[in-house]
Amino acid sequence: MRVDVVTIFPEFFGPLDVSLLGKARERGLVDLRVHDLRERTDDVHRSVDDAPFGGGPGMVMKPEPWYAALQAVVDGGGPAPRPRVVVPTPSGRLLTQALVEELAAEPWLAIACGRYEGIDRRVVDAWADDEVSLGDYVLAGGEVAALVLVEAVTRLLPGVVGNAESVADDSHTTGLLEGPVYTRPASYDGRDVPAVLLSGDHGAIARWRRDEALRRTATLRPDLLMRARLDARDLAALAGLDLPFPLPPPAVAD
Ligand code: SAM
Repeated sequence: MRVDVVTIFPEFFGPLDVSLLGKARERGLVDLRVHDLRERTDDVHRSVDDAPFGGGPGMVMKPEPWYAALQAVVDGGGPAPRPRVVVPTPSGRLLTQALVEELAAEPWLAIACGRYEGIDRRVVDAWADDEVSLGDYVLAGGEVAALVLVEAVTRLLPGVVGNAESVADDSHTTGLLEGPVYTRPASYDGRDVPAVLLSGDHGAIARWRRDEALRRTATLRPDLLMRARLDARDLAALAGLDLPFPLPPPAVAD
């Protein structure tokens, strides 16, 4: 996969060399390129922002450098005629694992990092395929959102995470939150690992993990539970939790 990030703070992207992502870059699994928006300015101050039409506080990112920067990305060539262009914004569609999976199937992404009051709307209208929000809060710029997008997407690429099964079991991938995990020692600080995990009974362990995922999801994110694919056994396990809301009908016949 190829990912181009356009930003006024290229130095924000040092973490792309670290850990799994750094190794994936070294191994050529992902080609990440960071571009400085200011290189696409033509005034002595390299200015990328101007006052908003209509007045009001703050500054807006000017269209000209953005058009030039995104055109340069396209003209530089890549694994498709053009990248899928993602603009992080708090007024975008919420980033979910389903959208991450969709983006991970693309050969080429470009991420446009806004600052100030955001990017002139004409840039977004002309170039963006997706406007994506990390959540219902406001960051100072799109760089952290771009890092989140790059990390969430690239860890799904074949070969990036050593054990593909560990990705398949993750929270949100199954539609549920993942339950608790433990490692050695079996007893620590007066707290014991649940006996079933030491039993060697893989069927019982799988059932326990599913029940814990159901319990955690029902407690912390009942909204997810309402959309999850639950079979009759899941519903029976949930019925035992005495939840303060009605359970959905089974999504999958048992
Ligand atoms: N005036 C904008 C609004 O109210 O929608 C907020 C601009 S914010 C201060 C500056 C930049 O931070 C945005 O252009 C976007 O790139 C990024 N940003 C802020 N919050 C975000 C969020 N929740 N998700 C994704 N990007 C965000």
